[in-house]
This record gives sequence, C-alpha cells and structure tokens, in this order.
Amino acid sequence: MNAIDIIARKRDGLKLTRSEIESCVNAYVHSGMPDYQMAALLMAIYLKGMDDEETVWLTDVMLKSGDMVHFPPSNQLYVDKHSTGGVGDKVSIILAPLVASCGAKVPMLSGRGLGHTGGTLDKLESIPGYRTDLSIAKFKNAVQSVGCVIASQTTQMAPADKMIYDLRHSTATIESIPLICASILSKKFAAGSQGLVFDIKCGNGAFMKTMDEAEKLAKNLIKVSIAMGKDASALITDMNQPLGYSAGNILEVIESIEALLGKISPDLYQITLELGAEMLLMAGISKDRSHAISLLKRNLKNGSAFAKFEQMVSNQGGDLSPFCYPNRVPKAPAIGHFKSPGEGYIQRFDTMALGCLIRDMGGGRMRTDDHIDPMAGLKFYKKIGCRVSYGDILVEIHAGDLSQLDEAMKVINSSVKIGPERIDPPPLIIKRIPL
Ligand code: URA
Repeated sequence: MNAIDIIARKRDGLKLTRSEIESCVNAYVHSGMPDYQMAALLMAIYLKGMDDEETVWLTDVMLKSGDMVHFPPSNQLYVDKHSTGGVGDKVSIILAPLVASCGAKVPMLSGRGLGHTGGTLDKLESIPGYRTDLSIAKFKNAVQSVGCVIASQTTQMAPADKMIYDLRHSTATIESIPLICASILSKKFAAGSQGLVFDIKCGNGAFMKTMDEAEKLAKNLIKVSIAMGKDASALITDMNQPLGYSAGNILEVIESIEALLGKISPDLYQITLELGAEMLLMAGISKDRSHAISLLKRNLKNGSAFAKFEQMVSNQGGDLSPFCYPNRVPKAPAIGHFKSPGEGYIQRFDTMALGCLIRDMGGGRMRTDDHIDPMAGLKFYKKIGCRVSYGDILVEIHAGDLSQLDEAMKVINSSVKIGPERIDPPPLIIKRIPL
C-alpha cells in the first residue's frame, strides 16, 4: 500500500496496521518520503487519533528506527523520570544524582526548553564545559561507572522521533496524545530505560491545563510503557506557580546545587522525595515508600547526592568551580526587584506568562535552534498564600538590559494577583497513577 492510501485511511478514521505504520515511518527516515506526506499523516493522526495498539506499534517502530542502549542483565531496573515541563522545574538535576547515590542506575535522557518551559539540557549547559551530546558508548559507560547521566538524544537514538518531532513543531501537531506517547517513549526506551516515572504537570503553567487532560496523558503513557514490557507510574503535580524559588537556566543550576547541599525549598523537597521514592521502588532498591524516603533524605543531608552530582558533572566535562564562589558565577547585566504594589495575600500567578517572560528575555526559545541567554531569569520570593506588605520584594528580575527590565516589571505586575483573602496553596502532589 502506498503512502497516499495510508494517509487516506487515517484521514477517514480507520485503524492502521503495524506494517502500514512501519512503511510510512521507515520511508520517512530512510527513503525520502517528503515532509508534506508525513505532515499530512501526522495531521490525520492528530484529528482522528490512534487506539492503544496503534500507539504501541508507532512507539515500537520509532524505537527501532535507530540504535538502542542495552544494559547488562541486572536484578534492578534502570529507571528514568520524565516531566511534561513547567516553570522552574529543575527536579531532574537534583533527582538523577540523588537517586543514583542511593544505588539506582539512571540513564536520563533530557530535552531542551521550548515555548514557556525550560529544558534540563539548557540549564546544565550553563555549567562551563558540560557536554550533553554523548555518544551511545559514552552514555552507557557513564551509567555503568557513575550511576547516572543526563544527556540528549543522540542522532542514532530513535531518529524517527527526532525527525517527526521537528516536523510536528511546524505543523501544529504537537498536542496529540498518541504522538506525544510515541515520541517520549521511543527515545526513553532507546536510551535503555526499563522503568519510567512520569511527572505530569497540571495547571496554568503546564501544557495540560486540566486534570482530565493530565490523567489521560498519564494513563496512556503508562499503558503503552507496560504493553512494551516496561514498568511505569505517574504523579500528577501542580504547576499553578513556579517550582522552587527560581526559573531561568543558570539561576536554576545555582538553586539545584544549593538543594543538593541541603538548602532546598519545601515544594522542591517534597516533589523530589516523591518522584525519587517512585524511582527507588521501581528500581528495586527499596521495598517500601518509607524506606525510600528515608534513604533519599539521608543522602541529601549527608552530602552523598551532591558528591554524585559532582561526579556526573565532571564525567561529562563540566567545571563546577565557578559555582563555589558566588562572585565568579556570571550574572545578568540588569538586575532589579519587583516590589509588592499593595497589602494582602498572593492569590494567583500567571505561570505561563512568567515562563514566556523568561523566554522573551532570552532564557528560552521559540525554535529549537534559537540561542539561549543562560543568565536571564526570575527569582521568586513568595508563593501562593503568602502574606505580603507594600514594598516587599516579590520577584528578582535578571535581564539583559534596562529596557528588558522595564518590560519585565509590567509583565510581572499583571501576572501576580494580590488580594485581601488568604488562599490555601494548591496541593503539590495531586494524584498518583495507578492509585
Ligand atoms: N516531549 C517530547 O519529547 N515529545 C513530545 O511529543 C512532547 C514532549
């Protein structure tokens, strides 16, 4: 069957066979199927969907489009975490070394920031020399010798995903659950993960704005993972305010280092422990949640997690020495403070607007090849429910120049709502799936 017939079948809402999916993906990756045909197929999938079986086939075909990392047989599972992205989400930087310091093997494949969200790779690249583009051999070796790695998808890992994901960005086909599942899972499994913990963000700074959407994505990711012989669980977590107290690349690395040294904000601490416990249970390191939590707390406190982070960074060519001396860490040229214009309680953040502000100051990107300014970002002094008085510093702005600083003040003014009634902070961990 030729590509036109396959596109037409999906356009008409029919179920594709594995060999139809395989022939299109392989033709696109290896034998010059044009972008316009793949774009048409993606739009048909976006509009008509795919059932579970088709999604598994698509994931498997994309996974097999390149090389796969195989780890030696072991009595523990190699585990990774995937977040759907938010503002100030630096959990991966803390979690991978923390969980590895407890004995788990963590082949963590991360992404770059896009749109209003930051990306772990961009953040880590603000450490001088840190290499995220490892070969498969180096990636595998890092997991075996250090216990964890945080790196990018190599050109050999699930190349079909790389090509299709790029095309989806320019064809308005990102927000499709089967395409998202196949994309995330094909590359994670290509990197050797045997168990995945998903952090599905939900709220006004997340891609999933409602619980229904978040749960649907979580359930699909888990279903497809299990159908492919892997383990998986998900936490749905709040993204109605920035996580931790900073957002922006270098600011988040500084915050992560402080967290690994024991100075960690309560929300970041809670989410790191919960996701870490999921990973340790899945890996087979802990038999119950309370053992996992106490191991994680102990290793954050006694310096083992930080030591593992140092080992990971040095193994990937990074130099942490500038971070040891506050005046040697590069700073944005224009730093200013947004102060409270009134009295009351923080009631709401427009988290998406704050993420877009960081992107527009150069801290993020609109297109995958945009250049990043690592210094651009925001530091948050208050959370939802905090009491504030007139003139209190609410946000510290790290901008490229004075005009950006002025613009940032305006955006923040309309993104933070202060009112007379105290609002309870939203629960951070909303739901675990499966329950
Ligand atoms: N992240 C991915 O890697 N792929 C998607 O489709 C969405 C988010």
